[in-house]
Amino acid sequence: MRYVSTRQGSEAVTASQAIIRGIAPDGGLYVPETVPAVDEAFIRALCAMDYRGRATAVLGLYLEEFSQEELAGIAAASYSDNFDCAAVAPLHALDGDTAVLELWHGPTCAFKDMALQIMPRLLTASLRKNGEERTVSILVATSGDTGKAALEGFKDVPGTRIMVFYPKDGVSQVQKLQMATQEGNNVNVVAVEGNFDDAQTGVKMIFADRDFARTLDGRGYFLSSANSINWGRLAPQIAYYFSAYCDQVNAGRIGMGEKIDFCVPTGNFGDILAGWYAKRMGLPVGRLICASNDNNVLTDFIATGVYDKNRPFHLTSSPSMDILVSSNLERLLYCLCGSGETVRGFMEKLAREGRYDVGDALRAAVQAEFVGGFCTDGECGGEIGRLWREHGYLADTHTAVASRVLRDLREKEGTARPCVVLSTASPFKFGAAVLKALGAVTNETGPALVDELAAFTGVGAPKPLTGLGEKPVRFEKWVPKADMEQAVSAFLS
Ligand SMILES: *Cc1c(COP(=O)(O)O)cnc(C)c1O
Repeated sequence: MRYVSTRQGSEAVTASQAIIRGIAPDGGLYVPETVPAVDEAFIRALCAMDYRGRATAVLGLYLEEFSQEELAGIAAASYSDNFDCAAVAPLHALDGDTAVLELWHGPTCAFKDMALQIMPRLLTASLRKNGEERTVSILVATSGDTGKAALEGFKDVPGTRIMVFYPKDGVSQVQKLQMATQEGNNVNVVAVEGNFDDAQTGVKMIFADRDFARTLDGRGYFLSSANSINWGRLAPQIAYYFSAYCDQVNAGRIGMGEKIDFCVPTGNFGDILAGWYAKRMGLPVGRLICASNDNNVLTDFIATGVYDKNRPFHLTSSPSMDILVSSNLERLLYCLCGSGETVRGFMEKLAREGRYDVGDALRAAVQAEFVGGFCTDGECGGEIGRLWREHGYLADTHTAVASRVLRDLREKEGTARPCVVLSTASPFKFGAAVLKALGAVTNETGPALVDELAAFTGVGAPKPLTGLGEKPVRFEKWVPKADMEQAVSAFLS
């Protein structure tokens, strides 16, 4: 299977080359030329497997250069006791129609671990397959969770270095501390003056700078990405949609072949796009509900076909969704319209005017599979309280956004179709907002809130988040966005 750029200005490459490059030379994102199809027998077989087996089977369809044994070994190493539960991605039933898929049992307590525990292994195997001898240098722009998950995934991986940029005032204290205390000899963390889009744009500009690439090449380095624009991030995420479906079947909550919806708290559109791939492959998915916070650019896009980022940027209590440019949407548009030229036109308009209109046909194609909705910070807090009171379920802010959007949709439609809500972070990562939503009064800040939330609810905090306050801070530097490239150059000197 070959991978092509969404802007069709670059040659097709193999999966391993797509993973090494991260982004296509024409600025587009790599997508598989065709989506592999599966039948019911495939899903039935997955039902009998554990998470590792399911991931191996799904990834094998996309990564043909990897043997099943090789992938099985990689999956076994990636999804083992680095996760705090054997199911890796367990389902928690809330009521007859609603289950929560918990994707935060990995080492950094956010769903990014699902991809970033395995992606470095896929990348280093890809480097070997292509005879690459230079050191790959991962650049990451993070709205909070990706950075830590990428650092954990790549720390001390031979042949790699990793540098993470995060918006100085756009992440929670726990997120900041998780990154600032990162261990490992090949890592660096720098704050950027600006918001997430500034950091992401800065990283994209560094990738696009050919002179800088030549300079780094002379030093024995090349740049790649661990952001969700990398296919190596996206592919592993497809597996948990299959896994959730199988768990629902195994629990007798749905019959084999019955359709379920997925409701996904969305930022960069990577998580929900993985669900779309699962659906395209043949998983019985009804529709994909795209849940946003006050930064509701995707809600408007799905409703109108107009993507317009010219709007105020809101800092919310669900910071990993504080995004106005959802990079992976480009992949969906390409797959739905099939024209790289058209997509290039949209992206050029986005860069120039901050807005593009996909027209009626493409809008209808999006609406055939996606529903959008958003909720405010106040509504999100209310939902955390309701989930706790009515279900005894402790949810983080991102999960609560999705839960609330689903509830609004069901109310509007007057029906409750079976739905799995993706839970993307541990509530302990966002202790301040969660405690406030539960009505707790506290004078604590930062990492002390982890213990505070545990004491208030009686729910045990995940190990990686306890004792964060005692770890030594290694990275305190911040730069204006114009100096990001210089910071990379200094790190890779
Ligand atoms: C990254 C993240 C999201 C958004 O996922 P995308 O793939 O960017 O849409 C939602 N919730 C949490 C907790 C995240 O870390």
